[in-house]
Amino acid sequence: MLRVDKSGYYGDYGGRFVPETLMPALMELETAFNKCWKDRKFRAELDSLLRDYSGRPTPLYHAQNLSSRWGAQVFLKREDLNHTGAHKINNTLGQALLAKYLGKKRIIAETGAGQHGTATAAACALMGLRCVVYMGKIDAERQHPNLLRMRMLGAEVIEIDQGTGTLKEATTAAIQDWVTNVRNTHYIIGSTVGPHPFPEIVRKFQSVIGRETKKQIKNQAGRLPDYIVACVGGGSNSIGIFDAFLKDTDVHLIGVESAGEGLSSGKHAATLKKGSPGVLHGSLSYLLQDRDGQILLTETVSAGLDYPGVGPVHSFLKDQQRVKYNTVTDREAVAAFGELCRFEGIIPALESSFALAHARKISRKANRKTIVIVNLSGRGDKDLESISHYEKNRR
Ligand SMILES: *Cc1c(COP(=O)(O)O)cnc(C)c1O
Repeated sequence: MLRVDKSGYYGDYGGRFVPETLMPALMELETAFNKCWKDRKFRAELDSLLRDYSGRPTPLYHAQNLSSRWGAQVFLKREDLNHTGAHKINNTLGQALLAKYLGKKRIIAETGAGQHGTATAAACALMGLRCVVYMGKIDAERQHPNLLRMRMLGAEVIEIDQGTGTLKEATTAAIQDWVTNVRNTHYIIGSTVGPHPFPEIVRKFQSVIGRETKKQIKNQAGRLPDYIVACVGGGSNSIGIFDAFLKDTDVHLIGVESAGEGLSSGKHAATLKKGSPGVLHGSLSYLLQDRDGQILLTETVSAGLDYPGVGPVHSFLKDQQRVKYNTVTDREAVAAFGELCRFEGIIPALESSFALAHARKISRKANRKTIVIVNLSGRGDKDLESISHYEKNRR
């Protein structure tokens, strides 16, 4: 059902839209990854890091207080309990190991919310790799605690002042760095985006989420869930949990984008809902663009969802209609954030709160037996400033 072809396309989407100088590195990476993914020793080393360093398997938690309020049986896949506080570490541990295998001693990364930068900095500290992280200046302000964490972990953080000062410009800067330093540098992309083979590498490293979830829900509920809901920025936590269920067509898979202040306001980050196919950061996928192909500004309370592109695999799954993509406004997400805090004692990431808010809508219309799994992609300590800022401005 989901296969990537030799040139890196999922159906019509993906590919490798990069300067010629990067092609050898992408080829080398593809060969190395395919070899490592099949290599018992590599997988054993990765599995032991995921277990002992990051704390996997993460629990699948039956949120009974939310369930009785919302109507359906709500389960949370607790990716927030990973080391560094989000699912991002699943991928950075894998790619840092891969870099070591490739003999590359310098790592670069781009970061939006700072979660990927932090997870990259941690993996590099662990494996003795030099680490440079590009971050938009606005994001660096919005997510100051993560900036401090990255520096504490030994990473050099370069703030990018151009354009919107968010993930789009940070990614452009990282690609430029890679073009210049490709011989000694591995670029750890943080989501299922970028030129082939990155989307495929990130999908495979994140697929552990869905494999665990499948086992856990069978054990705990005796059957597969009715719905799995995950937020979509670039698309890594969502494909990570969806991947193991793609062939289980009775399981509804739902990706949730940010509708920001509302889809009609123009201030949102609903790439799949409102975008059209085009090329950004090395691959062809849905993106938010005007009629001349200029990238549109995104706007949402959640730094981790503030990206005008999306992974090619999601464009494919949207066209196939295997995954449904919906949107939730900032206001709805902040409300769901508050409910999880107060009724379960869990502070979720703002990004994950978009998935929660949609799960709430589904649960309200469902019956008591319906099982809804939400991928709780991260924890929300980093977002406390953003939330109080948001609430102050609304008053
Ligand atoms: C980065 C991030 C996201 C968005 O990225 P995806 O690649 O779409 O998963 C979502 N939640 C958290 C907690 C994040 O850190």
